[in-house]
Amino acid sequence: METKYDIIIIGGGIVGLASAYKINLKYPQKKILVLEKEKEVAAHQTGHNSGVIHSGIYYKPGSYKAKNCVDGRRELVAFAKEHKIAHDICGKLIVATQQSELAHMSKVFNNGLANGVEGIEKINSDKIREIEPFCRGIEGIWVPCTGIIDYAEVARKYRELIENNFSGSKVLTGEEVTDFEHHSDYTTVITPKNKFSGNYIIACAGLQSDRIAKKEGTKTSAAIVGFRGDYFDLSEKGMNKVRNLIYPVPNPKYPFLGVHFTRMIHGGVECGPNAVFVFKREGYGKTDFSLRDTAEAFSFGGTWKFFAKNMKFGLDEYRGAFSKKYFLKRLRTLIPDLQMDDIVPGRAGVRAMALAPEGEMIDDFKIEHRGNAIHILNAPSPAATASLAIGSAVCEMAVEKFNLT
Ligand SMILES: Cc1cc2nc3c(=O)[nH]c(=O)nc-3n(C[C@H](O)[C@H](O)[C@H](O)COP(=O)(O)OP(=O)(O)OC[C@H]3O[C@@H](n4cnc5c(N)ncnc54)[C@H](O)[C@@H]3O)c2cc1C
Repeated sequence: METKYDIIIIGGGIVGLASAYKINLKYPQKKILVLEKEKEVAAHQTGHNSGVIHSGIYYKPGSYKAKNCVDGRRELVAFAKEHKIAHDICGKLIVATQQSELAHMSKVFNNGLANGVEGIEKINSDKIREIEPFCRGIEGIWVPCTGIIDYAEVARKYRELIENNFSGSKVLTGEEVTDFEHHSDYTTVITPKNKFSGNYIIACAGLQSDRIAKKEGTKTSAAIVGFRGDYFDLSEKGMNKVRNLIYPVPNPKYPFLGVHFTRMIHGGVECGPNAVFVFKREGYGKTDFSLRDTAEAFSFGGTWKFFAKNMKFGLDEYRGAFSKKYFLKRLRTLIPDLQMDDIVPGRAGVRAMALAPEGEMIDDFKIEHRGNAIHILNAPSPAATASLAIGSAVCEMAVEKFNLT
């Protein structure tokens, strides 16, 4: 006989798992089912990111990103300590290399103050060298509360806690949700192997969030396109040139861009990523192609408008994808002494970018509700840092919209 769940969550990334965990913490008796299409949880954005515990300094005061990043970071660090998940609050340098960046750097600093980011200070070029001896900049910001962690490990811990602590809840992998049947007071979720019924649905499908929303019957004007980020790793020879995290001042027009250096929690230093439009949403190789993904992306007017407005950015990023020399040139802005044999090709990740019909990037987190469903339509960086805070926000929304008791 089919088991009926209180809530079915679609997507076993960090956002879906954190949401299930937070709802179960508040309502331990609720039966929650998380369905993940891949063999393991955290198979896409959660397992392919930079592993940075972001401070919250970048985001516009008052935005969901600002609030959830700062709160979520503090909660995540406490969670990692409690559950003995390896992490390191090693701090990060944001470095201005040109006069023209100083005004925006000050804005970032002021955002940090307004967002309550602890301990930030403006520093001069000598202090930059003291913190990172190979880095050159004219001024910078030292952000001591930034850290590093493995988000796939965090997601696996959420799963373990859900399955071990809440007897009615489950996380099933290898179950791709392909359709929905709505009934008067519940919904049946269909996968190629099974049917599951739930009173409420919460979709946290990352790169597939727009498709799941449409299938479920929730209208959304935004569409998801994928942007691949390629990384290089510092070679053994280059390893001594970076101690921790070194970032440029973000370009206000493209805040998610800008190659940086990130020490990883399990060892090594990654450099990157760039951001190139992908022809396959979950394609990590440079030539991966999906006819469906490409046709959908180009049948959406917002994609064309986005390209028309951002042609130069697109071409620059493609150059970085195919030319190591060009990638190195960009990295040298921060570490001028970096050599060709200091970097070797590394892995890649794909970001879900939500585009509005006019071609604008939707920057903030976006959660929508309709009937018995909640959809997380946009959860870009720093959603991994903020996952526990997002989980709480989803839980509050479920309490309000679904009248959970
Ligand atoms: C290159 C890169 C670097 C980043 N760096 C950072 C960082 O340093 N710090 C930070 O905080 N954030 C970072 N981020 C952002 C962060 O990784 C994401 O915001 C976060 O992982 C989003 O989590 P999610 O659960 O929404 O998505 P995902 O992790 O993509 O999870 C969605 C899940 O839904 C599943 N799914 C989709 N469709 C279905 C279906 N039909 N049926 C069942 N399951 C389905 C997918 O298989 C997937 O596992 C980065 C992202 C990228 C790509």
